[in-house]
Amino acid sequence: MIDFRSDTVTTPDDRMREAARDAEVGDDVYREDPTVAELESRVAARLGTEAAIYCPTGTMANQIAGRVHTERGQEVLADRKSHVVKYELGGFADLAGLQVRMLDTDRGVPTPEQVEAGLVEEGLHRPGTGLLCLENTHNARGGLAIDPEKIAAAAEVAHENDVPVHLDGARVFNAATALDVPVAEIVDPVDTVMVSLSKGLGAPVGSMLAGSEAFIDEARRTRKLLGGGMRQAGIIAGPALCALENVESLATDHENARALADGLDEIDGFDVQPPETNIVLADVAGTGLDTAAVLERLEEQDVLATAFGPTTVRFCTHRDVSAADVEAALERIEATF
Ligand SMILES: *Cc1c(COP(=O)(O)O)cnc(C)c1O
Repeated sequence: MIDFRSDTVTTPDDRMREAARDAEVGDDVYREDPTVAELESRVAARLGTEAAIYCPTGTMANQIAGRVHTERGQEVLADRKSHVVKYELGGFADLAGLQVRMLDTDRGVPTPEQVEAGLVEEGLHRPGTGLLCLENTHNARGGLAIDPEKIAAAAEVAHENDVPVHLDGARVFNAATALDVPVAEIVDPVDTVMVSLSKGLGAPVGSMLAGSEAFIDEARRTRKLLGGGMRQAGIIAGPALCALENVESLATDHENARALADGLDEIDGFDVQPPETNIVLADVAGTGLDTAAVLERLEEQDVLATAFGPTTVRFCTHRDVSAADVEAALERIEATF
C-alpha cells in the first residue's frame, strides 16, 4: 500500500521506539516528567516563545487557545476554509461559546483590510472580536506556505485593535522549510501557535501550544479541564523529541510532492495545483468520475488518497513514502486512467 492519505499515517521508527522505552518519566500533571519538560522547553526555544505545553492533539491545542484567548460570546475571525472552521466539530462554538466570522481569503490569510472590515466592536448589540485565527501551511487550500509578512500584516491590524492572534501552525515547519525562513520568524508576529509533531515530523502522538508564560499557565488549566492532563507522558514525549530532529526531511517530502504533482498532471483527466509543500490537490473532473470513484480505482492499485471535495483528491507526502513509491504510484495511476 502506498499511503498518501495524510502525513499523520507515519509510524515511529526504531529510534523513536527506543526513546519511548528509555524515557525518564514522572507524573506530568504534577510537572514531574522530565522528558515532557525537556520537550516543552526545546519547542519554546525553537519557536522563540516564552513557554510551550504538550497536548495530545492539535485540535485540543487549537481549542485551548480559542478558549483561553477569549470570553464566551465573542467572535473569532478565521478563513472560511481553515481547519478550525472545517474540521474541529465546531469546537469554538461548542467549547468556548464563540461565533466564527468567516473570511473569504485569497491564499488562506486575510489582508489587513479584510481583518479591519471583519473586526466587530463590542457594544449593546455586538459581541466584540476576541481572536484572529490564522493557519500556516494552509491545509484545505493545498498546503500553501504563507509568507511571514502576510501573517505580520494581518496580526498588526488585530493587535492595533487589542485582538490577540493565534496561528494554527500544524505544519508551520513545512512552511518554514518551503519559504526558507526560520520558523521563529513566522511565529514572531502572533501571540500563540499550535505545532503538530505527529504529522510530517513523524511523532506517534502530540502537538505543542506555545506562547507567553502567563498564557501557557492558563492553557495548562484548560488542558486539564478538557481531559488532557497526562501522567507519565514522557513515554510519548521521548519520540516527540526525536521528531524535532526530522525537520530537514520535510524538504524531501516537498520534492516528492512536486514529482507526484508533475506526474499526475500529465495523466488524462487530472488537473493539479502546483504544490508549495507536501500537499497535492488534484481536480479529477476531467476523468468523468467523481472523487469516490477515483479513490476506489486508486485503492484497487494499492494507492490511498483522501477525498477533498466532489472532484478533488488530496495526496499528502510524508516520511513513509519515498521517491520510488511516488514513481510506482504514478505508474499504477497512469495505467488505470
Ligand atoms: C491536523 C491539523 C490539525 C489538528 O491536529 P490533530 O492532531 O489531528 O487534532 C489542526 N490544524 C491543521 C491545519 C491540521 O492540518
